[in-house]
Amino acid sequence: MLEVCNLSVVYGQHRALDDVSVRVDKGEIVVILGANGAGKSTLLRAISGICEGRVSGQIDMGGHPLKGLTSDRIVEAGVALVPEGRGIFGDLSVRENLILGAYANRAREDEAANLERVLTLFPKLTERQSQIARTMSGGEQQMVAIGRAMMSNPQILMLDEPSLGLSPLLCKELFQNLTRVREAGIGILLVEQNAKQSLAIADRGYLLENAHIVHEDSAERLARDPAVQKAYLGAGGKAATRPAPAASPAPQAPPVIAAVARPTPRRSAEQQIGVSIDDLVATASRASANTPRKPAADIAAEVQRHTQDRVAVVLKDIEEAARRARQRRPLPPRKSAGAKTPAPAPETQDDTPPPVIEVYRRPRVEVYRRRPSGQFERE
Ligand code: ATP
Repeated sequence: MLEVCNLSVVYGQHRALDDVSVRVDKGEIVVILGANGAGKSTLLRAISGICEGRVSGQIDMGGHPLKGLTSDRIVEAGVALVPEGRGIFGDLSVRENLILGAYANRAREDEAANLERVLTLFPKLTERQSQIARTMSGGEQQMVAIGRAMMSNPQILMLDEPSLGLSPLLCKELFQNLTRVREAGIGILLVEQNAKQSLAIADRGYLLENAHIVHEDSAERLARDPAVQKAYLGAGGKAATRPAPAASPAPQAPPVIAAVARPTPRRSAEQQIGVSIDDLVATASRASANTPRKPAADIAAEVQRHTQDRVAVVLKDIEEAARRARQRRPLPPRKSAGAKTPAPAPETQDDTPPPVIEVYRRPRVEVYRRRPSGQFERE
């Protein structure tokens, strides 16, 4: 049904796809496996007519060429894409998201029937129709995204990494849902990094490496292939790489694993200060035990005495300021210990306004004792 032949995509100087050919038939799940940067998303975007690169080659749907058509015409031709990251309208309700998917002419007349079909496929969405999409879980949002694409009544549904960010349980549910979509007679082109689960539901698969299709087989045989197991199913040590065609001008995909920054080994606090924390705690405890402690009542009395002394000095200053203000005489400079007493200022009578007298409230000191029960009690 969908036939891609000798498709190449170039971004500037970078060849993201080179002579790629894939096929998806009615009611068939085809998976594209490949490392990061292999060109998987580029393939789906090129088929959907939304690729920014230069596209060459042939893309046919039911014998009709798609290449060169605008993306909406491609949807009209029966090919729908669920993009990576879902792309649902978060502020709209589930139902509104679904209805928006039916804007294509091919789907408008059958909107009610398509909605019914989507809700039958994903019964969970039935009771959530009025829920705002962004408040749903990742798995539920993925269901909305697939449902919205299904509302365009496609013959081919393409999904870009639909399991990304989903828990294992939701992944399982998602892949089960895809088998139900297949049962509805729709062909599925699935780009996935979750090789295990995607191969488990797929009929056929392609391996895409460095812009080239390097292998094609039934999903069953791919899952048993030792090279596939090593590269995509986590069996064995290093990821196996099939040799790309010798004449490949495509640049190597970035070595993603190697590029991931290794965490610098963390030095413990003990290593950084060069002393054992246990030793520090023990020393502090001993020092604390050997220091004679003053009774709380003595400390409280000391604080009160000190405060009262300070308050007495301040009050004396205020009284003196008030007295001089009444007599319109400036305050003499404050005496400091050891300093010579300055000659008294000549008493003058002037017209300057009396100074502002600030009134202080005498601070109240309260001492609380903490009881073993944790409650505080006033001394
Ligand atoms: P992943 O699994 O990480 O999504 P992928 O296999 O889907 O990777 P693509 O997104 O198709 O890879 O990208 C293939 C190559 O093309 C990458 O090297 C990428 O940097 C490059 N590429 C993709 N889109 C553009 C763009 N719009 N402009 C320039 N280069 C791009």
